[in-house]
Amino acid sequence: MPIIEGIVKFRKEDFERDKEFFQGLKEGQKPHTFYVGCSDSRVVPNLITKTLPGELFVVRNIANVVPPANQNEGTLKCTASILEYAVKYLEVKNIVVCGHSNCGGLKALFYPEEKLNKLPYVKKWLDLISDLKEKVKDIEDDKLREWEIEQLNVVRQLQNLLTYDFVKERVEEGKLNLLGWYYIIESGEVYNYNFDTKEFELIN
Ligand SMILES: [Zn+2]
Repeated sequence: MPIIEGIVKFRKEDFERDKEFFQGLKEGQKPHTFYVGCSDSRVVPNLITKTLPGELFVVRNIANVVPPANQNEGTLKCTASILEYAVKYLEVKNIVVCGHSNCGGLKALFYPEEKLNKLPYVKKWLDLISDLKEKVKDIEDDKLREWEIEQLNVVRQLQNLLTYDFVKERVEEGKLNLLGWYYIIESGEVYNYNFDTKEFELIN
């Protein structure tokens, strides 16, 4: 459906049906979770978590990356500013980093140099995680390598979150939960990272 028709249909159907709920949101938001996801159009945060408007504070970018606190590039700080707002101002209780199968961002890491050079902004962004390639270089099976780097990337972003003092403090005080998820497009399954076993386990 063309998106303009979608807007009209939303107002006339969905909004009308849940009018009280939507009007109740007008005074402000109190989301419980900050969700960091990939921009991929197939992974829709509210859909896969069955959450409503007002519940998730969301940032999506290529390959669900959280730039570490020490980077100086202004452009990379965009995600950091959203993180700061979510944690310090909105006081979310959880931060979810959600990676997914068949991630184009992580595939792009393996593009030949000349292909990536045609996407200079993407290249710059992916520099943040390009060292992950080294960790999977010995995996010969393409599918396994893909899954492994996608999951390693989620773990890396959880580590990056902890480079921010305001995140680390709240996690240590038990006020903030960090969650690492891996969503499988073709099965709808979400695997959660277990910090003790260092494995991803199916949420069931
Ligand atoms: Zn992706």
